[in-house]
Amino acid sequence: MEESSLPLSLSPTFQMSQKSFQQLWESVETPSISSIPTEDNPSAFTWKTEPDIQLTQLLDDGALTDNFDENLFDVVPEMVVPPAAAPSTGPTVPVTTDCPGDYGFQLRFQKSGTAKSVTSTFSEMLNKLYCQLAKTTPVEVLVTKEPPAGAILRATAVYKKTEHVADVVRRCPHHQNQDATEHSSHLIRVEGSQRALYFEDAHTKRHSVTVPYEQPQLGSEMTTILLSFMCNSSCMGGMNRRPILTILTLETPDGFVLGRRCFEVRVCACPGRDRKTEEENAAKMENGTKETKKRKSASGPAAPATTVAPLKKPRAASSADEEDKEIYHLEIRGRERYEFLKKVNDGLELLDKQGKSKSPVAVKTEVPLPSTGKRLLLKEPRSDTE
Ligand SMILES: [Zn+2]
Repeated sequence: MEESSLPLSLSPTFQMSQKSFQQLWESVETPSISSIPTEDNPSAFTWKTEPDIQLTQLLDDGALTDNFDENLFDVVPEMVVPPAAAPSTGPTVPVTTDCPGDYGFQLRFQKSGTAKSVTSTFSEMLNKLYCQLAKTTPVEVLVTKEPPAGAILRATAVYKKTEHVADVVRRCPHHQNQDATEHSSHLIRVEGSQRALYFEDAHTKRHSVTVPYEQPQLGSEMTTILLSFMCNSSCMGGMNRRPILTILTLETPDGFVLGRRCFEVRVCACPGRDRKTEEENAAKMENGTKETKKRKSASGPAAPATTVAPLKKPRAASSADEEDKEIYHLEIRGRERYEFLKKVNDGLELLDKQGKSKSPVAVKTEVPLPSTGKRLLLKEPRSDTE
């Protein structure tokens, strides 16, 4: 019997025709039960390996090859095999959310106040450290239970703003060149420990410094690490006025993160003064937001106002129904340009008042203009004559 090698075969009449599937199905001849392999007779049949005559005919007729991409299956292996994953020791963008984890990881800073002489001070209100360049900041590390043996603390700096977060935080060339240490480009240092290790991630190039976690001394509830920052926030070619966050993580010796804490850092000449100014600005901003309840939620934390010189504090629009009441600071170079822009702003303020109400304030500003062509409306005394 010719079909003995095939478990299923088509009737000869179908082979030359173009029939429906039902006809095809009906034409299928089931194999005899004896041809199904059993344990006793595993070679009852073998799969036919030569090209099937019928399929070959269809291919010759072009019935299957029309619109058929013969290369289709060639690309499948490439699609299935994933690209070789590059192993990395750290995330591309460090996570900056606080996470106390199972060990209740927490940081605490000494209460240094905002005196002029203070070299390092922490604002709880802004979760921000203000410190002078290369001055030591003690950071107290607290846990609620003992971390596994060999646990480490790691400090990493990252730019706060999304547009800078891809850049690695490193020291400016000027300060780097003055430093003879191997880790001269590292911004964050751990002082007072011979066991501090400085890392540069092979893939992300981000810097970090680690120190073994030490258990609290007898009678103490926390351990203290000493951090210092080796550039000013304003350093050109370095941070360049871009705000940074410091991430402190508690990790196993293998680098598994057990807890994480983040805080902003500003390295500046007058930490006490800057903290005071920024806290006051934030408080004002907070009050402003409360007053205008109809405004939707504020657009995130206040930008550090001390990075721009408060040459002029624009008045808030006096009309209470004014939609955009937010106060912006503008840094202007040169007295003349400042006064020009001030006039523009004064004019706009005046227009607002005239447009919104006829309050006594608005009326008062409608004094007759000087007829002699003098410049007008300079409300602040000129200081450049001093
Ligand atoms: Zn620098």
